[in-house]
Amino acid sequence: MADMEQELRRLYGYPDDMTYDRYAASRRAEAEKLVSEGRAADAAEILRGLADSIKGDREACESLGRMYLDGTLPKDPWKSMLYYTAAMSPEGDRRSAELWSRLGDFRGMLLRSRPLGVLRLNGDDAESACCGRMLDALIAGSVSLADVPEGAEPEFSMTMTAQEFKALKLKGHEVMPTPGGVSVMDLKACPYCGARLTVGERSSEWRGFIDTL
Ligand SMILES: [Zn+2]
Repeated sequence: MADMEQELRRLYGYPDDMTYDRYAASRRAEAEKLVSEGRAADAAEILRGLADSIKGDREACESLGRMYLDGTLPKDPWKSMLYYTAAMSPEGDRRSAELWSRLGDFRGMLLRSRPLGVLRLNGDDAESACCGRMLDALIAGSVSLADVPEGAEPEFSMTMTAQEFKALKLKGHEVMPTPGGVSVMDLKACPYCGARLTVGERSSEWRGFIDTL
C-alpha cells in the first residue's frame, strides 16, 4: 500500500505527512465550503477531480449526483445518474435506479405521444421514433448517441440480443459483447426501417420534465 500512497501523492501533489484519504476529505470539505459561498461550479471541479481519481470517491460521486439534481448545478438527470452509478454504493444505486425509472417513464410517454417516422435524439435522450420496433428500443433505453467529431454525421450505438443481431444481418459495424447480448456501434440509421438518425436540441417537453425533478 505504501507504493499506492506514493503514486497517489505523485499524481495529486499532497504533502508527505498526509494520506490520500485525509487529502480527499480536506478537498471535499473545501468543495462544501465553496458551495456554501455560492461557487458551485468551482466545487464541482474539485469533486470531479476526486470522482475521477484512481481511487474513486463515493462521497464525491454522491455529492455530484445530488448537485446535478437539486439545482446546485444546472439540473442534469443524466449526469446525476452517472455519478450516482459511479458511487458504487447502495445509496448511489438506489438513486440511479430511481432516476433511470423516472426518465424511462417520461421517455415512454413522450415518444408514444409523437407520430412515428423520424428517428431523433437530443444530446442525452430520445425525442422521436421512426418505427414501432425502434420505439420499443428507445423506450427500453437501448440506444445511445455516440461522440463523433464536430460536423461528422451523427451515430448511435444500440444494445440487442445476439439472436436479434444475427437476424438483422448488420454488416460492417463494431460489435461489443454486453451482459444480455451485444452492443452494435457506429450506426447511422435505424437497423429496422433504415431511417437516418437526426440529432436536435432538447425539446421543451424534456426541459419541462427536468424542472419537475
Ligand atoms: Zn426505424
